[in-house]
Amino acid sequence: MIIFRVHLIILFLFLSIRGYSQERKEINFPNLPGYLTLKCDFHIHTVFSDGDVWPTIRVQEAWAEGLDAIAITDHIEYRPHSQDIPSDHNRSHEIALPLAEQLGIILIRGGEITRKMPPGHLNAIFVKNVNLLERESWFDACKEARDQGAFITWNHPGWKVQQPDRTLWWNDHTRLLEAGLLNGIEVVNDDSYYPEALRWANEKNLTILANSDIHGPTGTTFDLEKSHRPITLVFAKERSPQSIKEALMNRRTAAYHRDKLYGDRAFLAPLFLASVEIRSELPRLENMQVKYIGVHNNSDIDYKLKQRIPSIGFTASPLLTLKAHRTTVLEITGTSDEVKNVSNLKLYYEVENLIVAPGESLPVVLEIQNF
Ligand code: ZN
Repeated sequence: MIIFRVHLIILFLFLSIRGYSQERKEINFPNLPGYLTLKCDFHIHTVFSDGDVWPTIRVQEAWAEGLDAIAITDHIEYRPHSQDIPSDHNRSHEIALPLAEQLGIILIRGGEITRKMPPGHLNAIFVKNVNLLERESWFDACKEARDQGAFITWNHPGWKVQQPDRTLWWNDHTRLLEAGLLNGIEVVNDDSYYPEALRWANEKNLTILANSDIHGPTGTTFDLEKSHRPITLVFAKERSPQSIKEALMNRRTAAYHRDKLYGDRAFLAPLFLASVEIRSELPRLENMQVKYIGVHNNSDIDYKLKQRIPSIGFTASPLLTLKAHRTTVLEITGTSDEVKNVSNLKLYYEVENLIVAPGESLPVVLEIQNF
């Protein structure tokens, strides 16, 4: 009995010391044809730079919040805790790695090249040795990162500390881009969305990212019950570091921030269509008749639909919210005699919170069989 109690106490102490959360919250977005939808955060700090938490806590948070992959990207040039924690630039990754392997979180090695504007802060992930990125010149640091196979991003391009008046693209970013040293851009960082970054991502073929840039514990920074940290959805062929890198290099991502997704229509359109299922068996719609159609949304976000153009032969709600994990009733009314002969009723909407360019939402067509 005493032994049993001691075991219980040890177990309790172990759990409390490790701070394990026993529950993983799943993030629900469907896979796309040919691709898995992975949930990732590629910009994270620990006490090894100016963060407040130990590297293993980052892995526990990622597991509890339903992520597939993270990159710890401590600042290379800014290490305010270095007197207390003298260590090299690979150490935070190495400390987190065993737990990541145990919990099935893909941990990507990275570092943040931290300079004044221009070029500002740049993340290099998928590097092999972060120590070699400690260089006098930021350009040399980026070249070294690329030689190690890095995926390089411009972080928080509209950060007010560095771009107080306007979010500008500098000549140095063109220089990086032309040298093949800039692959992605944070369209969302922490709680900020940068429309300019979305425009540049489209114009300059940069990968769209949403990252937390978390410094404190995620639970005290984000409302994890009602919301989530900023997340990059990666459409990868497999759940592996190599596949994530391949997807990032080929721009197969979307930025998930609050109740919005930012991305290319090539990925947002199939994501929306895979999320939504028309559930009603509709007897043929005729003139002057009203029919109700169930539209189920299996994703985590409410889709906010606004009619783009009227349908032919019938009317439907001009505004429609498809709530997450709910079936919403859509009312349609026949307005012409011909409608009974139309086998495929089409509804033309835009999804206001799926954003493909600044001020531009994703157009979609809902199709209903009319037998
Ligand atoms: Zn950072």
